[in-house]
Amino acid sequence: MAAALTAAQAGLIGCEHCGLLVRAASADEPGHCPRCGSPLESRRRQSIERTWALVIAAAICYIPANLLPVLGTTTLGSTEYDTIMGGVVFLYTSGSWPLALIVLIASVMVPLGKLIALGYLLISVQRRSSSSNRERTRLYRMVEFIGRWSMLDVFVDTFTVALVQLSPLMAVSPGPGVMFFAAVVVLTMIAATTFDPRLIWDAGGEPESRIG
Ligand SMILES: [Zn+2]
Repeated sequence: MAAALTAAQAGLIGCEHCGLLVRAASADEPGHCPRCGSPLESRRRQSIERTWALVIAAAICYIPANLLPVLGTTTLGSTEYDTIMGGVVFLYTSGSWPLALIVLIASVMVPLGKLIALGYLLISVQRRSSSSNRERTRLYRMVEFIGRWSMLDVFVDTFTVALVQLSPLMAVSPGPGVMFFAAVVVLTMIAATTFDPRLIWDAGGEPESRIG
């Protein structure tokens, strides 16, 4: 199987804004896109370092986001605090298992999945892996796509709160876990933009069969 020529090997830079392929005069100072005027960058600057910092920060925030209460419900003067998992269990036992499943996927599994995916992409790029480039690019696009819909997590939580609040004798307040939860969402969204998917292809140049 012959390896495809990458843009970098051909001395070309793709404009990240409009997609125009530009032959750069020099790799260090590629200048601006002649079509849309955006600054050209052959690779996002310090992509791996920045993405690692954001992923690690998000992973740290993920722990209190799940351990601290996200929801306080006050009924007849007594307040109960629930973590995300506590909320999932409450929804499940009170009969609304589809809602429990949605909250579990949106709030627990999706953020964890994004962290694992970004960590895997970073490690594979650092180890200069040149196998399954297409799959890894697809994985990156998925993380990027989910990022755009990450506010779904917040939506689901608000929706749940609204449902609970339908009971007239209940008052609902956000717990400290919400702050960390929002931090996880924002940090992984930024991490998806600092990671440069073109790095996936840099280790290539050699056919896949030659790498053992
Ligand atoms: Zn452009």
